[in-house]
Amino acid sequence: MEHPLETLRECPSCNKSGFSQQLTCKDYTFSNRPFDIVSCNSCGLLFTNPRPDESGIGVFYDNPEYVSHTDTQRGLLFWLYGIVKRYTLGQKRKLLEGFTSTKTVLDYGAGSGDFSNELASNGWEVSSFEPDANARKLILAKNDKINLTPSLDSINDGSKSVIALWHVLEHVHRLQYTIQQFLRILSNDGKLVIAVPNHTSFDAKFYKENWAAYDVPRHLYHFCPDTLVILMESQGFILVAMKPMWFDSFYVSLLSEKNTSNGGLVKSLIGWVRAFVVGLISNLVALMDTNKCSSVTYVFKKRHLIRP
Ligand SMILES: [Zn+2]
Repeated sequence: MEHPLETLRECPSCNKSGFSQQLTCKDYTFSNRPFDIVSCNSCGLLFTNPRPDESGIGVFYDNPEYVSHTDTQRGLLFWLYGIVKRYTLGQKRKLLEGFTSTKTVLDYGAGSGDFSNELASNGWEVSSFEPDANARKLILAKNDKINLTPSLDSINDGSKSVIALWHVLEHVHRLQYTIQQFLRILSNDGKLVIAVPNHTSFDAKFYKENWAAYDVPRHLYHFCPDTLVILMESQGFILVAMKPMWFDSFYVSLLSEKNTSNGGLVKSLIGWVRAFVVGLISNLVALMDTNKCSSVTYVFKKRHLIRP
């Protein structure tokens, strides 16, 4: 099956040209096709290039195992994922409630709507954006108080106290446009919360091209603290906090074991033990240095405020 690919000539972050080939990863979830990851010679950003264009990417999500768009739980890995998800949902909500009393949120890339539901069930006014039609149905089935927004353009200036992207920014085609929209719709004291995987983590270095969080071609960008902060500062934001995400190292390591065992489920005990040890080492390294955590939640604020 052929899908159109687009080749970027300019860095999606700094707009400069000049890239270096970094590694070639396989799409383990859908197509089994190889995709190259390059790094920008100017700002250091890693990105998938060439990549499916915005109209062609949809088919690469069309897999029942694409876990964040479904609610089905099959096997031990999915069962564990469900348990950890319930715990972390509460933690994520409390993080947001720690820096705002105005509870107006945009959940951008809401997936199957668990986080939107967590907030809407706790007094938040929730707008959710989700491009996948099946996922949108799941969101509405979960909580009819959630307002599904068709596009960023339809949201008023300065109307959101929080915009949250849980493992979403790495999927966004129109990167600079989207961040500029966030800048427009965020209130003056609002916070932009972005969680993304970190390719400088121990688990990423251990699994190399099999690291599950490369997830090509769905992940268009592969951030680390330096490259994300360069991007966000160039778009008018300032970093205010970084929070480690302790469970991601284990989950990503388990998925990476699945990749190393030729696409089968993690059947061997050795695979499970190794994933646990790699995840643990990754977290021990991150305990000393949040910059090395498998996934990091970043909190940004606006550099310049809009005059009333
Ligand atoms: Zn660049």
